[in-house]
Amino acid sequence: MNSLSGILSGRIRATGPLTVAEYMRAALAHPEYGYYMTRDPLGLGGDFVTAPEISQIFGELIGIWCAEIWLQMGSPDVHVVELGPGRGTLMKDFLRATAHIHGFHQHADIHMVETSPVLKQAQQATLTPAHPRIQWHQELPSVRGPMLVIANEFFDALPIRQFVATEKGFRERVVGLGESDQFEFLLAEEETHHLPTALPRIEAGTLPAGTIIEICPVAQQMMAQIASTIGAKGGAFLAIDYGYVRPEMMDVHAAGDTLQAVREHQYHDVLRQPGAADLTAHVDFSTLRQVAMENGRVASPHPETQGMFLKRMGAQLRIQQLLAHSRDDTQRQMVARGYERLTSPKEMGELFQVLAVTQASPALKLPAFA
Ligand code: SAH
Repeated sequence: MNSLSGILSGRIRATGPLTVAEYMRAALAHPEYGYYMTRDPLGLGGDFVTAPEISQIFGELIGIWCAEIWLQMGSPDVHVVELGPGRGTLMKDFLRATAHIHGFHQHADIHMVETSPVLKQAQQATLTPAHPRIQWHQELPSVRGPMLVIANEFFDALPIRQFVATEKGFRERVVGLGESDQFEFLLAEEETHHLPTALPRIEAGTLPAGTIIEICPVAQQMMAQIASTIGAKGGAFLAIDYGYVRPEMMDVHAAGDTLQAVREHQYHDVLRQPGAADLTAHVDFSTLRQVAMENGRVASPHPETQGMFLKRMGAQLRIQQLLAHSRDDTQRQMVARGYERLTSPKEMGELFQVLAVTQASPALKLPAFA
């Protein structure tokens, strides 16, 4: 048993089972033992690899997307906000790729939203030389003007609550203690009749009993705040993550239990050694999009797959340039392999989705969206 297990077991014995969200929040963000608080989890020597660490084109093309939107907005002063920036690699590539776009950097203030002291330090080392005005925040800052918000593999790290449908309502899935004091999933004793958020709209008793529904209240709150700011002051939001998009016309798409733990590039037991493995859940893009449209004067096209988004942004052309400038075969192979991993339907190309939300008026033409 590690230290965080001890703390959480003590809490359960004292005040009863934890919601999945409470367990997930502690595992990821406990100030002393939380997964993100104590380490840099990214890369080969870590637990998982993200798109910006696989290929520089990822951050570059997102930079171009933002700069194109900024030009359409009439080149105003703008706040570029990145949520959960990891090592700062995406922003480094973003800034390099947009350095030649006349006036963009002069007009942009950069805001990094990061809770992990370890990763904040890595970001500062990488980015301080790359731009004169970068600020760090623990939470989404409130800004005075238009903003461009980007988030890669951020929303999947926000704590979810899980509910199991019953004949008449829902029972929350919670984490309690088993006979030999190990963590185990239980159902809350009390039945819930109304889910704790307005969306997705699910009436009690309409789903087959046993269906698991996931809700991410923190993600919804952030999305609402972002949409309301973008609607009022202008700008755009781009989120890339693995998740699901409900088929059109469908009110509810219960993806089931998507909570997963990964350690050293392998799946790990969600309830074992909290704080030692990364915990994530799939992102419900349809609900986020609906939350955005109900909370701000914004537009949001149907989400696009990561593969299609990158190809439409000119990934192939950029890869050709990188291949032409590669030192040797090893480097050429890495460049080609990176493109394959990001775009192939067999790898990240279709599993990852891109959600865009923009100011409704004046309307913008979004690069890479149909
Ligand atoms: N975007 C990066 C890192 C993804 S990992 C990349 O693509 O490589 C998730 C990131 O979100 C980490 O930087 C983590 O520290 C940060 N994070 C997780 N929960 C957070 C929260 N509630 N607020 C701010 N940052 C958070």
